[in-house]
Amino acid sequence: MTDRDTHRVIPLMDQRPSGLRVPAVAFDPDHRLTATGLISDTRGRALHDLRISVTDRCNFRCNYCMPKEIFGPDYAYLKHSDLLTFEEITRMARVFVAHGVQKIRLTGGEPLLRKNLEKLIEQLAVLRTTQGKPLDITLTTNGSLLARKAQSLKDAGLQRVTVSLDGLDDVVFRRMNDVDFPVSDVLDGIEAARAVGLGPIKINMVVKRGTNEQEILPMARRFKGTGMVLRFIEYMDVGATNGWRMNEVMPSDEVMQLVRSELPLVRLEPSSPGETAQRWGYANALGQHDKSAGEIGVISSVTQAFCGDCNRARLSTEGQLYLCLFASQGYDLRSLIRGQATDADLQSAITHIWQGRTDNYSEQRSHMPIDTGQPVKRVEMSYIGG
Ligand code: SAM
Ligand code: SF4
Ligand code: SF4
Repeated sequence: MTDRDTHRVIPLMDQRPSGLRVPAVAFDPDHRLTATGLISDTRGRALHDLRISVTDRCNFRCNYCMPKEIFGPDYAYLKHSDLLTFEEITRMARVFVAHGVQKIRLTGGEPLLRKNLEKLIEQLAVLRTTQGKPLDITLTTNGSLLARKAQSLKDAGLQRVTVSLDGLDDVVFRRMNDVDFPVSDVLDGIEAARAVGLGPIKINMVVKRGTNEQEILPMARRFKGTGMVLRFIEYMDVGATNGWRMNEVMPSDEVMQLVRSELPLVRLEPSSPGETAQRWGYANALGQHDKSAGEIGVISSVTQAFCGDCNRARLSTEGQLYLCLFASQGYDLRSLIRGQATDADLQSAITHIWQGRTDNYSEQRSHMPIDTGQPVKRVEMSYIGG
């Protein structure tokens, strides 16, 4: 057993929280707040992006997200009656859109496992932003069911997909997904998504030192010039079950140094405010961005915090609102919509919650003692979605 193994911490406990009550002031007639299409938190961060988890289940067991030791055959997933229905999700989405949300990302768990997901997409696709424009609707998937579903997702109104793929070497990939799933099926899913026009497609690769860093260059070569945007993601300390250790994080600077050693790159500006990825374009012989070769990016949530621009809210599978990926508790919006709350009540509650938001976990992380070996209480990524 290595020194790293002896310091690995996998607390054997279910970390799902029970919902926080929504601030009572939200329902006080003297403190009612209506949606104006723009709300800001305590740091002036607007609410722009809503991530909705549609299931807490997954057919993969990526060891950085749903390790088999915890998510085994006896794991108690949410009951169907606990999940928000499509009508409830759409109602929530409509209220968030009234607050200025422009983009909705469906996630999970594995979102394509949720039965009839296309019906939800159809309902969301008719919503309009406060400027009267269609929403930007996208989905993050492990790609396992994409070959089968790409056409129906496109027909339902989905615009784009992000596909997670941690390497091209079959042995490495099968070990990482821990259910022996082959790379070729994910590549088929990506091809099907491209063929039906679910693009521009993004490919997410979580880089875990000691596990798949040898896949960085093959992945960069494979997706260069395809019109797909590969993003390397730093392995994060989300949840409380993946036994995260800083020495397994490969900093984005190191990743980019490696890629640039073979493929010349130029830095690109962020494409939108709150963009999580740093963008790099492939360079031509003159050192300028060669648009036909495309771009790649890094998401450096560990080494370069981007909390200052974080404009995302997350709605869990059972209707709890989380203001940060690293939060330990959410706000129970489901109890409101299953109670007597009107849309105006919901708007007021969300306004109060967002206006009180102070979250900046990644900024704080750099000042925290690490590797304490103590179990932490934090919501799982498979429950609120990435
Ligand atoms: N199952 C879908 C998938 O894998 O794309 C959607 C849900 S998954 C939680 C969303 C994203 O989170 C994936 O790209 C995944 O690689 C990423 N992710 C999960 N755990 C992570 C971790 N510990 N660090 C960094 N990224 C992680
Ligand atoms: Fe499933 Fe996605 Fe988590 Fe992997 S990262 S276990 S595919 S939810
Ligand atoms: Fe946003 Fe929380 Fe991540 Fe900071 S740590 S960028 S507040 S989700």
